Amino acid sequence: MKDGEIVRPVESGGHGPFAPMIDPFGRAVTYLRVSVTDRCDFRCVYCMAEDMTFLPKREVLSLEELDRLCTAFIEKGVRKLRLTGGEPLVRKGIMNLIRGLGRHLDSGALEELTLTTNGSQLSRFAGELYDCGVRRINVSVDTLDAQKFKAVTRWGDLGKVMDGIRAATEAGLKIKINMVALKDVNEHEIVTMLNWCHDQGHDLTLIETMPLGEIDGDRTDQYLPLSTVRARLAETFTLTDIPYKTGGPARYVTVEETGGRLGFITPMTHNFCESCNRVRVTCTGQLYMCLGQNDMADLRDPLRASEGNDVLNAAIDEAIGRKPKGHDFIIDRNSRQPAVSRHMSVTGG
Ligand code: SAM
Ligand code: SF4
Repeated sequence: MKDGEIVRPVESGGHGPFAPMIDPFGRAVTYLRVSVTDRCDFRCVYCMAEDMTFLPKREVLSLEELDRLCTAFIEKGVRKLRLTGGEPLVRKGIMNLIRGLGRHLDSGALEELTLTTNGSQLSRFAGELYDCGVRRINVSVDTLDAQKFKAVTRWGDLGKVMDGIRAATEAGLKIKINMVALKDVNEHEIVTMLNWCHDQGHDLTLIETMPLGEIDGDRTDQYLPLSTVRARLAETFTLTDIPYKTGGPARYVTVEETGGRLGFITPMTHNFCESCNRVRVTCTGQLYMCLGQNDMADLRDPLRASEGNDVLNAAIDEAIGRKPKGHDFIIDRNSRQPAVSRHMSVTGG
């Protein structure tokens, strides 16, 4: 901005009286993912080690602070908000936050309020989520085999998750199933999952494992490129690329034989950074401008510095000015260290 230039109220892409968030590469930031807790009732093998040390509660933002932070981003042009974690539905009082944020849907400031969940608590919360204005959720299910589900999640119970998915469908929530493609673990179940999802009316998105955080095993053993998966699926199914977008990084195809939609999230085989519109906030108020980089900005101190948002807004603007062009993920035998040391459950998926 030149000296003396006036920052005009945002007329599109934002409902607040603030400048929209445009990064150095001209990308508008309109999508915020908030990890409301780093805790979880599962211990998925690709996500966490079995023995995890979680953040002390005093470091975690209160629900009121999370609301204030989200609201500040919405005033700066965020149109889509996804709550994630850890497991967002294990955070105590989470429905109060979701109900409060629902006001931004009512005002039209927010287009979508959604969450990514492991489904373990959905039976309890599905109806209330719908009441709060949530219309679509992502549920992570890597296998439909109960024993394997237990092995992948270590602590999860597939039956409970299936009950949750049923409750969510009955409540009127649209469901997208997220499945992390894992070599030798679920790679031969992708067709079963695809048929089940489309039969139930759910979209399915396949995800490549990303090198985030130390886990107990070796990621090279888990990594399955989705280019291989797609080529295999194409031997049985007719896949047609479609321009459908949900605001996230998935690329979609329709599957002619099932009539359903299938997404691919391919951070490893196809870098999707050029169209990135997202930033992420952790439950301690750290703003990560890229999932795959270590650079971040602390927003907790600016948030707590005063009751007004001037300091906070300045900190957000400064951070967006540092949003990098993209990530540098590599998974191969020579680079055994994760690209970034924090787990996916910290920054949120
Ligand atoms: N607990 C919730 C769940 O599992 O849906 C939300 C948080 S979880 C971190 C969000 C998504 O990230 C899930 O779909 C999960 O499978 C995925 N995920 C976790 N660790 C990953 C990794 N290292 N690489 C790719 N996806 C990962
Ligand atoms: Fe928990 Fe989700 Fe990570 Fe699994 S993927 S351990 S459910 S945060």
